[in-house]
Amino acid sequence: MTQLSAEQAYQLENVQGAQLDVLRQQACDVRDAHWGKVMTYSRKVFIPLTNMCRDECKYCTFVQRPDSGNAQIMTPMQVLSIVKQGQQMGCKEVLISLGEKPELRYREARQMLAKLGFSCMVDYVVDICTLILKETDLLPHVNAGTMDGAEFAKLKAVSASMGMMLETVSERLLAKGQAHFACPDKVPATRLATIVSAGEHQVPYTTGILVGIGETWKERVDSLIKINELHRQFGHIQEVIVQNFCAKGDTQMAAFPEPSLDDMLRTLAVARLILDPSISLQAPPNLQHRYKDYIASGINDWGGISPLTKDFINPERAWPQIAQLAQATSESGYQLQERLTAYPDFLTQPAYFEPVIMQRLKLHCRQDGLAEQQFIEQSRSTPKTSHQFESTTLYRVAL
Ligand code: SF4
Repeated sequence: MTQLSAEQAYQLENVQGAQLDVLRQQACDVRDAHWGKVMTYSRKVFIPLTNMCRDECKYCTFVQRPDSGNAQIMTPMQVLSIVKQGQQMGCKEVLISLGEKPELRYREARQMLAKLGFSCMVDYVVDICTLILKETDLLPHVNAGTMDGAEFAKLKAVSASMGMMLETVSERLLAKGQAHFACPDKVPATRLATIVSAGEHQVPYTTGILVGIGETWKERVDSLIKINELHRQFGHIQEVIVQNFCAKGDTQMAAFPEPSLDDMLRTLAVARLILDPSISLQAPPNLQHRYKDYIASGINDWGGISPLTKDFINPERAWPQIAQLAQATSESGYQLQERLTAYPDFLTQPAYFEPVIMQRLKLHCRQDGLAEQQFIEQSRSTPKTSHQFESTTLYRVAL
């Protein structure tokens, strides 16, 4: 089946019922032809390096202003302590996530950074990645937001992959009263320029869309089309996340309607049919628990899941037990397997990695590019929160 054009996708806004089922089956056929009967996840630890940010997204509960008393930059010792625990629990990826350029807006951020010996966050991220590579076996994946070419060059030397959600190409959402008002880093042209720069620097890149923040269906389709165009140009998009907006108390969008399940399933199917089949399609399993419906809409990946740290961007949404996901995946006819932060297709292309990173990737990957050591928690009958995973027994799955 050929990929959907923008015009074809625009027509699918209201598709539902039996027609939606047909669309989802088409997406599954494309997924199965390229990815087979395997669904993947990456076993990771989540490092929220700083919760300060110069932007003011109206749905965000992660960000803290310096005068709140909760703003912080994690120290190298704090980071290392978590990463080492993650290593003991079979994690291979360190997701380093941070607010956008807080030092450009807040004096307190500059002071905290100066105490650590740095004048900009990206240089501190480089230092943290270097420390992780030196002291542990894990692979850094960096989400540092909008960046220029020089910043990509520095971070490529010390990380296996990077990412930034495009979220949307809608300029309308920058207006007063909209989700991205007062967010200089959410200007679509700036985010697209970042994705271009990642392509120019041959960085395996993760991006995605945020569904339901006020964008129209056409704008949603246009965002996916744009991502696909950039992948055609550079070949560097390894995965696209389709993430549903979640309304949170204490935000300006607390009463904003969340996308319906049908809206998500329609968007997932259309994403699968717009994007090149080689781009992994991911939906976060902690933001919606209809695992089988998602699988039946064309996804092939559950993203990063941590047995140790919570999702600091959505702290109220615990990660599912990996055993639970494995079961739902298996009942849908697929096998859950652990991948690395860089996808198999990229591991055969040395230009995407510095030699030291390639060496580390080889340490962890088996012949097909997925993780050599496949870990999964044993299922227990009583439900647990993500924090209770620490006591969970690990065993290596024979595949
Ligand atoms: S969503 Fe990201 S960019 Fe927006 S305010 Fe929160 S941390 Fe900053």
